[in-house]
Formats: sequence, C-alpha cells, structure tokens
Amino acid sequence: MDIPTIRFFRSRSVPKEDSQKFREYWTSVGNDLLKSVEKYTGLRWKRDRISIHMKPESGADILGWIEPSKPYDIMLHLTPDNRVNMSTIAHEIVHTNIWSNYMDDLRWKEITLFEDVFADELLTEIIAQKVCIRIGIGGRRRIHYSWAIQYGFITTFLRVGRIIGLELPENLRSLERRWGVDRRTQPRGLKSFRGVTRDKLVSWSRDYFREVREGKTNAMEARRKLVENIPSLSDYLGRELFFR
Ligand SMILES: [Zn+2]
Repeated sequence: MDIPTIRFFRSRSVPKEDSQKFREYWTSVGNDLLKSVEKYTGLRWKRDRISIHMKPESGADILGWIEPSKPYDIMLHLTPDNRVNMSTIAHEIVHTNIWSNYMDDLRWKEITLFEDVFADELLTEIIAQKVCIRIGIGGRRRIHYSWAIQYGFITTFLRVGRIIGLELPENLRSLERRWGVDRRTQPRGLKSFRGVTRDKLVSWSRDYFREVREGKTNAMEARRKLVENIPSLSDYLGRELFFR
C-alpha cells in the first residue's frame, strides 16, 4: 500500500485561516513525513486514509490524542498561539502506523497492558523524533531521550487512566508537577529510574535504527525487546508514588 491521504477536519472554533495555513504547510512536508515513518518503523501503511481533527487550544500538556482502538483518527489541539505542533503530529502518526499493524495482526491486547503502554510511548516518541530530525522539522538534531521519558510518563498516566476508567489526580499525571521541576529535590528513586531508563533507551535505539535500516526488524518486534529491557514502571510507581 502507498502512503495514506490525510484529511483535515476543523472544529468551528478553530480559525479557518489557521487551519488553511497548516494545510498548505502540510503539502510541503506531509509526504516526506509519512514515508519517513514507514522507514523508521519498518511497517507498511495499512489504510489509505488518516483523519486529523483540529481542535482549539485546551491548556492541556498533551496536544495530540488518539484512541488506540481508532488509530486513523487523530485529535489535535492547536498551541496557545493557534499553531499546529509538528512534533505532536509526528508522534501521533507513528502511533497510527504501529497500532494499525497491531490491529491487523490480531495482537491488539499486547499494547493495552500497563507495562507495555510505557514502552509503546517511548518507542513512538523516539521514532517520531528521528522522523522530525530526518525531514528537518522541530529544530532538533539529536534524539532528546530525557524528553521522551518525560513525555512517556505523562502519556502513560493518561492512557492507563483511560484504560482503567479512572480520572487520575492531577499530581499523578506528571511527576514534575508532583515534585517540582528542580531535579535536585526529586526523590533518588526517580533520578535513578530515569537514568537507567535513559541508558537502556540509548543502547536500544542504536541497535534498532541500524536493524530497521537493514530490514532486520520493525517497531513491533523491537518493542518486545524494549519492554524486556527498561526497568519496570509498575514496580517503580508502586514504590515511589503510592507507598511513600
Ligand atoms: Zn503517544
């Protein structure tokens, strides 16, 4: 299958000129982005259409959202200055590509378990960053692992909250919000969890990007290895968040 067509839908409160501006920008980078995603996940596109629903700014930490069961519908909030954040789109589109392959493979349950959500988010964000670096968007030249871990924490809490049908308290959604941004005052456990996770990610992604380039792996295969390698998020949360 070729790369999918993207259709944009805008809520009434999104200014028409802002969505128009973005559509024009998309025409210049969209195909490159979709091709790079396929290249870095090693997985073909499974459908010929993806819908992006543009929504007004919401004040939330997370600008993009997909229901794992509907990987072809991306919800996208504009930034406070009414722009589209390209790194967010890249992240969500990597999810679309990986999740739709799981659906077609009847292995859907593999990515709804608590432990797997964290690995899934890390993998998605690292591939998305690589895509952005390759096509020259977002201004980064190297993978920012600490940000991937931070983003992984926030989105994992949100996704797990949705899976278990519970609205997580604000202070559990983000560890930074719970302990403040000053790393020195954060608990030792957090620092070492981050440090170990970062080291594992660095070595995992070095192998991964080489192997996917050589056609020896894809994002689904590599995810298992990542789940095995990173420290256990559930153990960590149990220790640090709930029993302190
Ligand atoms: Zn995500």
